[in-house]
Formats: sequence, structure tokens, C-alpha cells
Amino acid sequence: MYDVIIIGSGPAGLVAGLYCGRFRLKTLILERINIGGQIVTSPTIENFPGFPGGIPTVELIDKIKNQVDELEVPVITEEVSSILAVDKSGIPVYTVKAGDNAYETKTLIIASGAQSKKLGVAGEGKFIGRGVSYCATCDGPFFKNKEIVVIGGGDRAVEEAIFLTSYASKVTLIHRRGELRASKIIEEKLRANPRINLKLDSVIEEITGKDKVEGVSIKNVLTAAVETYLCQGVFIFVGIKPNTDFVKNLLHLDESEFIITDQDMKTSLEAVYACGDCRKKNLYQVINACGEAAAAADSVHRYLLNLK
Ligand code: NAP
Repeated sequence: MYDVIIIGSGPAGLVAGLYCGRFRLKTLILERINIGGQIVTSPTIENFPGFPGGIPTVELIDKIKNQVDELEVPVITEEVSSILAVDKSGIPVYTVKAGDNAYETKTLIIASGAQSKKLGVAGEGKFIGRGVSYCATCDGPFFKNKEIVVIGGGDRAVEEAIFLTSYASKVTLIHRRGELRASKIIEEKLRANPRINLKLDSVIEEITGKDKVEGVSIKNVLTAAVETYLCQGVFIFVGIKPNTDFVKNLLHLDESEFIITDQDMKTSLEAVYACGDCRKKNLYQVINACGEAAAAADSVHRYLLNLK
């Protein structure tokens, strides 16, 4: 019987593990694919305090993971398929099924994060891995001296467009409105980069090619004019979708399936907490994912003290 099982090992899951480890709770972290979560698809984090000039994302994740290891909190790579709640004399106990195993726990912290949304245009599915990508760090090196387009106007699209200029000969950022959503400081860097071409008020209608991406058709939403643009890569950063399928029948979610919590990270279910990008909130940053994780661990600790 664990005191707490943490689902996910992005910044939120790792920091929850760090705090639970320091409370000396019997803790297990379950991770589906890779430690670090979706943020490792971004090459650097520029706004994490303490690292002037930014820090490579992998380095920050390694540092946090080392702190978790020092506390001997185990991380097991197994995908959670279901969670069963059992009432034992008024106190809930949860059985977490992951892979071929089932683990019992008194409390849960859901830190399952989010993944990139699909754009939903013709050709997108067909060319995933053949020119269409959702990860600049993973796929950027394949586009050395090639022309690419980046779709989206948020922080990720702008940061990744800048990063991709270290490989591509030319990067065209396509955004559906006349104004970017990204923070001004990142936008300034984008506008100062001579290898980036900005196409505002424009959407992609189709990604075309034979066996791999050869171009996109771009529609100007103000004039309705459509042009064909030749390129070898299409990087899509149009927001995130939470990884909450496995709790959708268990917890209250909002209309976009983000988990609803109170300020102490408590969900609609007793002894279940959520933090990070799977949670409904206004700001999706590593810094507040870490803070929420500390709050979730503190709530778990308080709940367990009250059981005694
Ligand atoms: P985002 O901030 O939600 O921006 C999504 C962008 O995609 C918006 O510009 C949106 O356009 C556009 N878009 C959405 N659907 C579209 C569609 N169907 N067709 C064309 N464009 C579409 O998402 P994000 O940039 O992927 O970032 C995800 C989250 O991670 C954000 O909250 C971001 O702040 C955060 N982030 C954090 C860090 C960090 O912690 N250091 C770094 C990077 C990102 P509109 O503007 O018109 O809505």
C-alpha cells in the first residue's frame, strides 16, 4: 500500500515526487513514455528563474530527476489504464492498473500533462513523420538547409520557429490572426530574426506531397486568396490537449477535458489531487506546474496526517 502514487513524470510529477519524498511518504511515480513530459519537446526554457540566458530543457529535467533519485523515490515506466476506487470503512483506497500490475494507494496525484493538438487539415495525418512534426527538438535536425513552415502564434510556435532557424534555410511562421498570442519578448526575437518570414491572417488549407511533404496551400483569411508554398517541413504548435482519458469517468473535467481542482489541487474525488498541464487554469508554464506540484504534495501530506 503506497501513501501516494503520482501519475506522470513531467516537471509537475517530478516535483510532486520530490516533495512527497521529503515528507517521507511511501511514494511511486508511474510514467507512460519518457521522463520530462511534453516540455522536453522544447529545446530550452528561457523563463525558469535562476538560469539567466535560459537552460536546456533536458538539463533542467535531469537536475530535478537527480533530486528525486536522491530521495529514492521510484519511477516505473508503465501506462496507467484505469483507477478503481474502493471505500474501506469510509476511507477511500485506490487501485491503479498499469501494464500488467495493480498498485494500491491511499492518495493519488494526477500529473499526466498534455499533448500537442492536431491542426485537422488534409494531409496532416498522412505526412506525420514524413515532414509533419509536433517536436522541434526531435525533428529539427532532419531539416538542415530545408524550407519549413511553422503553424501557430503562441509561445511554442514562436520559440520553436526561432530554434528551427539553426537548421532550416528559411522558416515561415503562419498565424491565423493579425496579432501573435506569444509573449512580447519572444515576439521581438522572432521579428529580429532575418531567417523568419511572418505570414499573419493566414491559415493552412492542405499539406501536399507524394510520399513526403512538398508544400502547403495557404489561404489569406482577409482576402480569401490561396497560394501554394513549396516547403519540406510543417511544424504544428496550435495548443495542447490534456492527457485525462483514463480519469474522465472518475473526476470532474471541464469542456476541454482539463481536470478541475480547488486552490489546494484537490479534485472532485476524496484523496485525489491534480497539478500541471492536465489541470484547468489560465497559465501553462513549467514554473507554475512546479508550484502546483508542491501544493498537491502538501495537500496529500495534510490528508494523510488527518487519517492518523
Ligand atoms: P497556445 O498558447 O494555446 O497557442 C496556440 C496558438 O495556436 C494560438 O496562437 C492559436 O491562435 C493557434 N491555433 C489554435 N488552433 C488553431 C487552428 N485550428 N488553426 C490555426 N491556429 C490555431 O499554445 P502553445 O503555444 O502550443 O503553448 C501551449 C502552452 O504551453 C501555452 O500555455 C504556453 O504558454 C505554454 N508554454 C510554456 C513554456 C514555458 O513554461 N517556458 C514554453 C512554451 C509554451 P489564436 O492566437 O488565434 O488563438
